[in-house]
Amino acid sequence: MSKILHIDLSKKTFEAYEDHKLYDEYIGGTGVATKLLYDMHIENIHPYDENSPIIFSIGPFNGIYPMATKTIAMFKSPLTGNLGESHAGGRLFMSMYDAGLSAIVITGKLSEPSYIAIEDENVHFVRATSIWGQSAPATERILRGQEAGVGKRSIIRIGPAGEHLSPMAAVTVDTARHFGRLGLGGVMGSKNLKAIVISGSKRRKMNNFPAFNKIYTEIYSKAVHSSAMKKYHNLGTPQNVLPLNKINGLPTRNFSQGFFEGAKFLSGENMAHNYLAQQIACANCPVGCIHLAVLRKPFQDDIHYKTFKVSYDYEPIYALGTNLSINDPEELLDILNIVEKAGWDAMETGVTLSWATEAFEKGLISTKETKGLILNFGNAEVYKKVLLKMLENKDEFFKDLNRGSAYCANKYGGKSFAINFGGLGSPGYITGRDAFLGFLMGVRHSHLDSAGYSLDEQIVNGTLTPDEKKEVDLLIKEEEWRFILNSLAVCLFARKIYSEELVIRGLKALGITKTSDDLLKISKKIHRLKYKIKISNGFDMNKLSFPEKLYTVQTSRGKMDKETIKRMIKDYRSRIENLLYAI
Ligand code: SF4
Repeated sequence: MSKILHIDLSKKTFEAYEDHKLYDEYIGGTGVATKLLYDMHIENIHPYDENSPIIFSIGPFNGIYPMATKTIAMFKSPLTGNLGESHAGGRLFMSMYDAGLSAIVITGKLSEPSYIAIEDENVHFVRATSIWGQSAPATERILRGQEAGVGKRSIIRIGPAGEHLSPMAAVTVDTARHFGRLGLGGVMGSKNLKAIVISGSKRRKMNNFPAFNKIYTEIYSKAVHSSAMKKYHNLGTPQNVLPLNKINGLPTRNFSQGFFEGAKFLSGENMAHNYLAQQIACANCPVGCIHLAVLRKPFQDDIHYKTFKVSYDYEPIYALGTNLSINDPEELLDILNIVEKAGWDAMETGVTLSWATEAFEKGLISTKETKGLILNFGNAEVYKKVLLKMLENKDEFFKDLNRGSAYCANKYGGKSFAINFGGLGSPGYITGRDAFLGFLMGVRHSHLDSAGYSLDEQIVNGTLTPDEKKEVDLLIKEEEWRFILNSLAVCLFARKIYSEELVIRGLKALGITKTSDDLLKISKKIHRLKYKIKISNGFDMNKLSFPEKLYTVQTSRGKMDKETIKRMIKDYRSRIENLLYAI
């Protein structure tokens, strides 16, 4: 597969073309999307300019092997003004695969709120003024009825947050999957693009069915019968709550400590026993890690209830639960439901609210800005009011909150305790220097870049010896290997199954020959291009540092030493510089 569909929203035109060379050089997924974005020279384009592109890209394993379920989105982030990259599961990859499309590039701007329906290589532009303003879940329900489609449809859409051009707006994909991070929802909103419906009718024939079937069966069997995916199938990512709490790695009250007194209430165990309604899976995944809880809310009188299914994962539990000191699962689910309907990135929202709470406590903001609301950790009622005010997007302070923690700290103060890296709100780990270094230097500033928290955990449990240089080495190595997994677009939860050896065999069964050395060269090339994009868009490695507050708190590995961190950042930076100037 190497077909790219380019849609120009301004002209309402579209064109599909093949580029075998691009796929041969960059595999697919993040590799191809990076090259496409690089060639579009976004450096002088505002993220909300009509020429600002959105790229969706899948890889050669999508639609073929189990758990190869991701679609990669690349764009210019309105949150950081730099490289925007977000990955989502669901059915989107399958619909693109069925449509015979490896990538979709969207540029331009619609003259009025609309959605686009892609069927194979055809695109319909449909007026959507009647659904503009609808929540993310309601939009999906409406379009499901409206757009019959063929094959397996995928519906991706924004909620009011994206319409308001919030740089922390997400794009919701099918049921409870998201392009959550870095503000793709705002970019879609800026294009008047409420939703995209994708379906296809193509079927692919395997040239070498026995070889494919052997690999498929091996992966499937490991997913179902080994322990590799057990955690995700059982409690899902919320299983992390108690182990992290035990090692003092669970961010609590805006990263003031790594231990939350109410952790047991928000644990995967408690959520499963008392609130779990259903588990679902991305297409072509036998694991089903997506956990939906039931939330009942009374209305009219005390015997009638509305029932919602709310997805819960570790990161939203941290961001809107422990880090805000909310220990009542029902209150947390209520907050998650508001965030889901609005279409915000749950993590950025939580980090921004926790900054606001500390800023209020320290007197940087007052009831004058908050319109009388008194922010204090643990007060779910107030947080819900704040979110509803943010949703109205009228008063200055609440409009500002829609722009994320970095923007707010710049305007109101409190940069030292605005826990973001490169402008992106922190993931939920207070495990030590490797987690934070990974967030700071990783191309997406995401925990999924290099999973430094896992190195911290290994050091805490004694399976890895602390060593500054080696830790930097391991972070870079992990990130570069993930460029390959993300070019194949496999779910990173399955990373232990998708070893390099299996990846090479999996590609071979599809007629793609790559050696270990080839993969290494491709991953370095992707890394270099991503950093080139970042630097040309203003990312300055010399200005990087951790939020000061992090030096004052106990991580799982104890307090961090500033001089050591400076040395490690310098070492990391010089390795990136070597990479950039390598021939
Ligand atoms: S493990 Fe979870 S996120 Fe990954 S593909 Fe399966 S259902 Fe989707």
